[in-house]
Amino acid sequence: MGFTCLDCGAATDPTPTCPKCGGFVEYAANRESLRLAVEGDPAAALPPFERIRMGEGNTPLVDLAETPSTVSGKIESLNPTLSFKDRGSALLASAVADSDTPWNAVVVASTGNTATSVAAYAARVGCPCAVLVPADTPTSKLGHAAAYGAAVFTIEGTFSDCFDLAEQVAGEHVVNGTAVYSANPFVASANRTVAFEIVAAIGVPDWVSVPVGAGPLLGGTFHGFRELHEAGITDDVPRMLAVQAHGCHPVVRGFERGEPVKPWTDPITTEVGAIADPLVGYPADGEHTRQAVEESGGTAVALNDDVVFEWADKLATSGLYAESASAASVAGIEAAGVSADETAVALVTGHGVNEPREGTVETTAIPLDPEPVREVLR
Ligand SMILES: *Cc1c(COP(=O)(O)O)cnc(C)c1O
Ligand SMILES: [Zn+2]
Repeated sequence: MGFTCLDCGAATDPTPTCPKCGGFVEYAANRESLRLAVEGDPAAALPPFERIRMGEGNTPLVDLAETPSTVSGKIESLNPTLSFKDRGSALLASAVADSDTPWNAVVVASTGNTATSVAAYAARVGCPCAVLVPADTPTSKLGHAAAYGAAVFTIEGTFSDCFDLAEQVAGEHVVNGTAVYSANPFVASANRTVAFEIVAAIGVPDWVSVPVGAGPLLGGTFHGFRELHEAGITDDVPRMLAVQAHGCHPVVRGFERGEPVKPWTDPITTEVGAIADPLVGYPADGEHTRQAVEESGGTAVALNDDVVFEWADKLATSGLYAESASAASVAGIEAAGVSADETAVALVTGHGVNEPREGTVETTAIPLDPEPVREVLR
């Protein structure tokens, strides 16, 4: 129990990789804590740091319009910075605030939601936060992190270069908040709570659909279910469904070929930004995710952008404004052929406002005349 190597089982400090064998490290709770977790206190199964909380987690499960009644969405877009990344950031911030850990500052490589989330929680703890992004990142995506007071650095290079630099900066007093298993043991550890909350609400569903970049959301969620099963609290684990966009699908490709995940070196041809991760420099992260899918008896699908955006529109016009990556997890359920008598939960990972749509908004200019207004309300 405690932080443990997922490969050799050694107990470790909260470091990303095992000092003995290099395996990824994650937190595992004892049976009593797991029981509390599924009885409505998911944080009971997190590391015992002094807890920094801003209302993350405990997100609602709701029926989705446009899907069979057996499908529900877990609305992670209701987290404080509007994505599930807040689960990991809250735990990271708790580790920084805890006087037993050496850290007092955070560095993070991210082009999107992780930067926003880590910056917010760093601000809450009052510690310095540096965000590293490729120079071609649209500035519209950096305003949130900057608003929280993070120092935003642009680098002439790729996301992988930013990731390398974050690794160099991280060290004795600086923790790496980048949201991959190989940099940060808090992300997947915190994402286990998704499983605890689902079990508390509806038990173990047949399927859990997850949009995947490197995949610590899928991996952490699956490990949460597996822990409950191994502790004898549940009878089963769900099948995990990994969803990527066709224009960058290294994890799905590895799954389809039945071989270890390799970096995606083709051009990235998808607009579904939150899951377009080529894994260059850290393919082991994607492989770890692929193994979770395999172990669960699940599957993996790659979707074309038009399918994803069609679902994003369908969700929005039925009241749920979600990021395109989140629409992908709903779309994936149909694409994977999940039958209507199986229960499925799609993780709606992020809010539409985190991904401003290009293009003009359709408006109609009218004179001060009620008639055209009445017209659309008939
Ligand atoms: C980060 C992110 C993902 C991908 O999750 P990973 O587990 O990091 O691969 C999916 N959707 C949204 C909205 C995200 O921000
Ligand atoms: Zn090990």
